[in-house]
Amino acid sequence: MNSQRKEIISYFKQMDRSFFMDANKDLAPFDQALPIGFEQTISQPSLVLEMTLALDLQPKQKVLELGTGSGFQTALLAAFSGTVYTIERIEELQKRAKERLEQLDFQNIHYRLGDGSEGWEEHAPFDRIMVTAAASEVPRELLEQLNEGGKMVIPVGNSFSQELRLIEKDSDGRTHTTLLNEVLFVPLKGKYER
Ligand code: SAM
Repeated sequence: MNSQRKEIISYFKQMDRSFFMDANKDLAPFDQALPIGFEQTISQPSLVLEMTLALDLQPKQKVLELGTGSGFQTALLAAFSGTVYTIERIEELQKRAKERLEQLDFQNIHYRLGDGSEGWEEHAPFDRIMVTAAASEVPRELLEQLNEGGKMVIPVGNSFSQELRLIEKDSDGRTHTTLLNEVLFVPLKGKYER
């Protein structure tokens, strides 16, 4: 196992998931998705770790995250990359996540409120893209905004069946897709809503 992977796992194990929740804090240790209000969820911890490890984060990389949610996944991304650009469409969730992440003293996170389904072109290209809501298909704009040598993790499917995909872009700009898991995420709203 490479050392970055080991460090991510050990950092993850000491994260206090309840800090990212306002209610049901006693359920935080369980490996399940939990409600965070506004019909949204904080993802299952084992899945957060799996998705993060699949991205193979490296220091100094620029990461785009769609779906800030509670900020739990954002914290992990920010701890192991250079800069994180995170987009959330629900204002109250964004506000709470930002407060938490600032309390943890993260200074490498840029926040945007709104629909992120078309990415964040102004800051592209991104070395890594993490999508934490399910799209009906892989957004063309995200593929375009992924750097050569870049990796994206994204759940794709409908309300009943989704596959978690790892998409890697090679140095010629060609993409390769690997199926990682079967998952069930809340929908990615906007242009690629199913
Ligand atoms: N990673 C988050 C965490 O650890 O708490 C969980 C994210 S939750 C499963 C998905 C989030 O994506 C929700 O907060 C939802 O509001 C947001 N979302 C859905 N569609 C979006 C869009 N088009 N643009 C930005 N955020 C979106």
